[in-house]
Amino acid sequence: MDLGIRGKTALVCASSKGLGRGCAEALAAEGVDLVINARTAETLERTATEIADRHGVTVTPVAADITTEDGRAKVLEALGGQADILVNNAGGPPPGVWTDWNRDDFIRALDGNMLSAIALMQALVPGMMDRGWGRVVNITSAAVRSPIGQLGLSNSARSGLTGFVAGMSRQVAPKGVCVNNLLPGLHATDRAVSLDTGMSKAEGISIDEARARRQAGIPAGVYGLPEDFGAACAFLCSQHARFIVGQNVLLDGGAWNSSI
Ligand code: NAP
Repeated sequence: MDLGIRGKTALVCASSKGLGRGCAEALAAEGVDLVINARTAETLERTATEIADRHGVTVTPVAADITTEDGRAKVLEALGGQADILVNNAGGPPPGVWTDWNRDDFIRALDGNMLSAIALMQALVPGMMDRGWGRVVNITSAAVRSPIGQLGLSNSARSGLTGFVAGMSRQVAPKGVCVNNLLPGLHATDRAVSLDTGMSKAEGISIDEARARRQAGIPAGVYGLPEDFGAACAFLCSQHARFIVGQNVLLDGGAWNSSI
């Protein structure tokens, strides 16, 4: 299927690795020029070169912390202040115990997983509306639908973003801009390895055993791949997604058990 987005420009945040990279690769495969971003310049530049060589699109790497105002200013400058497609992403907050988190912990989590995404939408969506076309995908988490106790900072910040998008997406849809959230369940990225490692230490089991136990809770029987995630993201960014507005699309191999 031709997604109809060849020649468009996308900002994909936090995309040198993992799910962000999956999204960047899938968009590049459709002929979308990219600005990609991560904090570590070396990994980011390698990823940019690999994606550009593989797909023949322009890929501009911007090494910056997307959760800071300075970092966002750098990526917006590289875009010349406008993009057709925005994929919001950042690292997730650390796990912990609900009684331990203080105001600073919550502010950091809100900056990382709610306010930075909102700031980028505020910067880029008005231009999309003026041009009559745009797509935004926010990478959130399955934890928005099915909370994970030790990830309370993530549950809180991402739920805040979800609430914002629920209202805002319906305000911008009349101008041809579709804003949606993609909710990853377990995917095979560095983040999954670190969660497997945490479980293996906490329970005194091997990393393989920890992974097997976590996979046992997924009806599909495996972790998702960044490629699976990227394909869904690219579809939401496509011409064919114009009637998908304000949705929370769960990619979890069936782990969340529900009729609707
Ligand atoms: P990952 O494999 O660890 O990759 C994270 C990417 O984001 C890297 O490119 C990293 O590069 C970049 N990054 C992190 N913090 C950044 C920042 N402040 N500014 C700019 N770039 C930043 O993680 P992932 O598994 O793809 O996860 C992506 C998001 O989905 C996270 O928020 C995670 O919590 C969430 N999620 C993941 C899963 C899963 O199973 N993988 C499930 C649910 C939710 P640098 O470190 O060089 O900056």
